[in-house]
Amino acid sequence: NRQYHLAKRPTGEPDMDTFELVEADVPEPDANEVLVKTLYLSVDPYMRGRMRDAESYAEPWDVGEPMQAGVVGEVVASNHAAFGEGDVVVGNLDWAEYTAADGGELTAIDPDVAPVSTALGVVGMPGRTAYFGLLDVAGPKPGDTVVVSGAAGAVGSVVGQLAREAGCRVVGFAGSDTKTEWLTDELGFDAAINYKTTDDLSAALADAAPDGVDVYFDNVGGPITDAVFNQLNVDARVAVCGQISQYNAIELPTGPRKLGTLIQKRASVEGFLVSDFQPRFEEATTRLAGWVADGTIQYRETVTEGFENAPDAFLGLFEGENIGKQLVKVAER
Ligand code: NDP
Repeated sequence: NRQYHLAKRPTGEPDMDTFELVEADVPEPDANEVLVKTLYLSVDPYMRGRMRDAESYAEPWDVGEPMQAGVVGEVVASNHAAFGEGDVVVGNLDWAEYTAADGGELTAIDPDVAPVSTALGVVGMPGRTAYFGLLDVAGPKPGDTVVVSGAAGAVGSVVGQLAREAGCRVVGFAGSDTKTEWLTDELGFDAAINYKTTDDLSAALADAAPDGVDVYFDNVGGPITDAVFNQLNVDARVAVCGQISQYNAIELPTGPRKLGTLIQKRASVEGFLVSDFQPRFEEATTRLAGWVADGTIQYRETVTEGFENAPDAFLGLFEGENIGKQLVKVAER
């Protein structure tokens, strides 16, 4: 049973020395526990925060202990009445090939409804983040211009499609031409900007959003966010979902710099956490699954093969190596 432990807390960018591959015994499930064989493991940007020894919404990981991740797995032994051998479940488990978990912490998924991997992406936590962050926090209205950064990622790609369905003009920022083409040619974005090859982000945004920006869904922060703030409209709403461009920073740049715009435009900025919407997870999951089934929402996954490659997959998030949801495939069902 291979596991990844946090070897040490990184300063700046994490690297392979951050992780330690450990061979452990397959655990025996206790009363009410279920032994889960990992099929897919999710790597997510927020994990960078758990490597830090600082108070946050997710507990810091302990050095020398297994890290945790969203996992889709198969039940191989069960001491819990709700689960039997062969069931497919999703839960927050260890970075491991096998984890014993309390049955109360697991959710069953129906493999006949959608590929099981989607429980970690478009109909899982990232999809729900897009759903609540856009529809509840930002509140798009028909005719609004919605801008999303990190637009070709797990969360951003769903945000853009939900905004399109809400009757908005949708503009995305992403880090490659393959990504921007996916957004405009397949997902129905009105425009997409490759921020890595564009010198003047403000000019590019002014072209793409000639009527200004009513909603900004921010996944990344940094220079993209500065460019968007310059072009907020009166009564604009900014939903702050993530700031991945800052997660590896050793010292944060001075800021925020663009708050004057908020006065002039009477705009509001609201951070949110998907976990606060827990009582409504079922609603979001059901609606997202329906939209995926009827083709309203399309999705992509970048699947890294092999448990041992999970650190690479995680590090790739900061290089934009993923298109859509980044997953690690650990075993077959
Ligand atoms: P993604 O699938 O979007 O993967 C991360 C992407 O971020 C990369 O593909 C890369 O795409 C982009 N990126 C990396 N570095 C930079 C940079 N310096 N500047 C701009 N873009 C960069 O991840 P998720 O969809 O899982 O998460 C998106 C964001 O949402 C993250 O910030 C995450 O922390 C946040 N989040 C927040 C939640 C909440 O409850 N508030 C819940 C879930 C996620 P590119 O090629 O475009 O650079």
